[in-house]
Amino acid sequence: MIALTAARLFTPLESVEQPVVLLEGARIVEVSSRATRPLPAGVQRIDFPDSILAPGFVDIHIHGGAGHDVMETDPAALPAVEQLLAKHGVTTYFPTTVTASRDHLLTALDRLATAIENAERDTASRGHRAQPVGIHLEGPFISFERRGVHPPQDLLAPTLSAFERFWQAARGRIRVLTIAPELEGAREVIAEAVSRGVCVSLGHSDASLHHTRAAVEAGARHATHAFNAMRPLGHREPGIVGAVLTDSRLSADIIADGIHLDPIIVDLFLKAKGPEAAVLITDATAATGMPDGRYRLGWFEVEVKDGMCTADGKLAGSVLTMDRAVRNVTKFAGWSLQQALRLATLNPSRVVGLSTRGKLEAGSDADIVVLSPNGEVRTTFVGGIMSEAAAGR
Ligand SMILES: [Zn+2]
Repeated sequence: MIALTAARLFTPLESVEQPVVLLEGARIVEVSSRATRPLPAGVQRIDFPDSILAPGFVDIHIHGGAGHDVMETDPAALPAVEQLLAKHGVTTYFPTTVTASRDHLLTALDRLATAIENAERDTASRGHRAQPVGIHLEGPFISFERRGVHPPQDLLAPTLSAFERFWQAARGRIRVLTIAPELEGAREVIAEAVSRGVCVSLGHSDASLHHTRAAVEAGARHATHAFNAMRPLGHREPGIVGAVLTDSRLSADIIADGIHLDPIIVDLFLKAKGPEAAVLITDATAATGMPDGRYRLGWFEVEVKDGMCTADGKLAGSVLTMDRAVRNVTKFAGWSLQQALRLATLNPSRVVGLSTRGKLEAGSDADIVVLSPNGEVRTTFVGGIMSEAAAGR
């Protein structure tokens, strides 16, 4: 048994001073405070004085990092992405596909499903690598007008048969589906995906308020990078953004890098959705953690200059890391670190229905990030195993 001690812990809903976390293998068996509970005898003790313990981050929208895209065939790609993620506090992630030709997409889904299955079996080698637990299918059921950089020739109308083909290729590992609700056939696909336990997320969409509400009636419960690749909010035409900001049945995520959204809009979004329904994502590309240059996103190329990731002059994902997104929320909206952490831990984990992640309590996975008082990552535990290197050292 391992005992971790620190200055403070965020569960994240509660704050514990002088915490002790007892780990048995890949599980947390107890979270308590040294003020009320002496350390049990015979435990291996790891002290993080002056540090904060928080649940490992959960990123439900990420395309790559460390020079690699999650759709690549190179077997070294996912391990490289997963190591970078762990350095930035992410312990659980949902590799996210972009629109590509049907064959490219089907083979990518098959390969990602294999990676998820292998990660489930092989827990011993985690530690330094975030764990993929489900696939986020971002295209092809998205709007032509709001496609962003998704290749237009490969967009598809949502149909049950197309969804079924992707589902089979992914062996049921699709856990998040981004879909534009105004497309013909969207409601049937939304209802079917929801019945299979998929988190249906509205996005890349030109939807009216009416179409958005119909999708929520059909079971959609989340929205993808609010404001980005969406019909803009109009004061007489609220559209999809109006619904996302006001409908309490919908949670929603944002890219809080200060580039995709002005900090004022981050503040507005957080005031509207509140601490229960706001989620942080990175939408990170292969360029994350790399110098300026040209990188892959799915089957096309993006250019990165001064932290801006573009293709044909349009924003194309980010180079954001989750720890920075959390710190940005404290800066842009004046939230406490504890509040901001919830948006990267408990909330995304609830949105996708993970019951043992995103929180520190007895029975949860031993996925833990060790932070400095201002939210810099010092080290990360994945499945009870500590990473050697921490980011920014
Ligand atoms: Zn994306």
